[in-house]
Amino acid sequence: MKAFDTLGLSGELVEAIRQLGFENPTPIQEKAIPMLLQGNADLIGLAQTGTGKTAAFGLPLIELVNENNRATQALVVAPTRELSVQITNDLDRFCKNVKRLNIVTVYGGASISDQIRKIRQGAQIIVATPGRLIDLLSRKVVDLTHIQYVVLDEADEMLNMGFKEDIDEILSTTPGNKKVWLFSATMPREVREIANNYMTNPQELAMEGRQQGNENIDHQFVVVDERDKYLALKRFVDYTPNIFGVIFCRTKMDTQKIAEHLIKDGYNADSLHGDLTQAQRDRVMKNFKNKTLQLLVATDVAARGIDVSNITHVIHMNMPDEMEFYTHRSGRTARAGKKGISLAIVSKKELGRIGQVEKSLKRKFTKVSVPTGDEVCQQKIVGLVQKVKEVEVIDEEIDSFLPEVHHALKDLSKEDIIKRFASIEFNRFLEYYRDARDLNKSDKKSFFDDGASDAAYTTGDRIFINIGKMDGLEKGTLLAMICDYGEVRKDNVGKIDLKGAYSFFEVEKKFTDQIMKGFEGVEVRGRKVRLEMTGGRREKNADDGSGDGGKKRRFSGKKREEFWGGKKKESWGRDKGRRKR
Ligand code: AMP
Repeated sequence: MKAFDTLGLSGELVEAIRQLGFENPTPIQEKAIPMLLQGNADLIGLAQTGTGKTAAFGLPLIELVNENNRATQALVVAPTRELSVQITNDLDRFCKNVKRLNIVTVYGGASISDQIRKIRQGAQIIVATPGRLIDLLSRKVVDLTHIQYVVLDEADEMLNMGFKEDIDEILSTTPGNKKVWLFSATMPREVREIANNYMTNPQELAMEGRQQGNENIDHQFVVVDERDKYLALKRFVDYTPNIFGVIFCRTKMDTQKIAEHLIKDGYNADSLHGDLTQAQRDRVMKNFKNKTLQLLVATDVAARGIDVSNITHVIHMNMPDEMEFYTHRSGRTARAGKKGISLAIVSKKELGRIGQVEKSLKRKFTKVSVPTGDEVCQQKIVGLVQKVKEVEVIDEEIDSFLPEVHHALKDLSKEDIIKRFASIEFNRFLEYYRDARDLNKSDKKSFFDDGASDAAYTTGDRIFINIGKMDGLEKGTLLAMICDYGEVRKDNVGKIDLKGAYSFFEVEKKFTDQIMKGFEGVEVRGRKVRLEMTGGRREKNADDGSGDGGKKRRFSGKKREEFWGGKKKESWGRDKGRRKR
């Protein structure tokens, strides 16, 4: 490995970055810096975030830009406001005490007049998001005629976000002899096209192991039912007391919903998505950066390019459709040589995506389990004991209060005191997790494919019903009947197991009686439907004459007859108007 002072950078700049804690160059810096310092090459850098690519292009830019010339000489284009601000901050940090450069950042969602004023003061480097730059160009505020270097950062992201036309316009507005330095985590066709159209014999730096992604990310996945994803998330968070993470959702609505649930459940969480005002986004990001916010729930677009150090976990509430999205999401952790976990909470349906991403990254994902209630509680106790061991005792301050404490506790044994003190923090979790069921699903292909759970409800009951396949019953039909007669939701029902003349289904315990009652008096083709608790714990017969005074309720009607013949199960349950209640 080469040292920074062998790359051709000025001594002052090497000293400046050393003071920032940059001891040795990262691989991309080692390769790109000497090449870019020549000032005569176009470059394609295939590097992900977290590899140190900002310094890889930023340090040469600082060396190459003439501080005595007030013209705009370099342009950095980045997909988001957050990334633009970050790049500007990095450039400012690098050149402080080295050169007096005016670096201006422009982005949408903020006062344009302030930005215009700053540019008019003479911006030697402009860092911009594409949309706002186009706006300023059309207002003739920005003059790109003296541009010598254009950096396109996270080019694949900009194209993903639909900035293709803007980028074309920007590149064709700049002088023909400018140099283009393009950085991208991936190299889709559209990025290649930009290289073909606007670059001359570009040097290509593919970071070794690029396909493997960041080695420091531990890629994990867990399989649960779709409906259990939120519960699984909470368990992981409870199990990892010092978690500092980003939780990714596909839509703004999910982002909002999960953040709201987490807040309601007492977690330190907030959401980041496109519907927030810029001021709201700034506030959230500020809290996250200074770590007063522990869990950031975000959409892909809103969280692009975030560089916050020490993120321990990236959690995916679903697998993204685009490979690039996965790379960008997981790249929020394990930055600057640190380690991090990227955990995908997936349903069985999404397992195929895990395989695809594994192939593409050439990295194996580790299958993990959702911690059980007991494990979470155990972890909490361990955490508590650790806290007790590590707490700083300020003898002089606390000593004067202790006699009273000793007096108040004098009748309790040491064991009692330990128990009580542990319970203070512990009871809340114990209460919550006492009957917690196992959320883990097998990742083997289920026999059932109608979305009903095949995971046993440890807090559920298994019920026998005297109708089955021989009656033309399908799982969807039985599910609809249970929901209709039992007045429960689909997600209160677990595994459905159809046999010949009878079937079994699982329901959450609290709904068992209600369902038993709901089926009272129900008939199918003149046969009385009978339900029984399995395991001999409880028995109740819908045909025992209790019910609604023996009044018969027929499972009939034209539509129902139709599917009963095995034709159309969809008819059931959509037929709300025919319901008896
Ligand atoms: P980037 O990939 O440019 O977003 O950089 C990721 C993080 O690594 C940033 O927080 C940088 O400040 C940090 N970083 C970049 N280069 C180095 C280096 N040579 N040594 C230590 N940290 C670095």
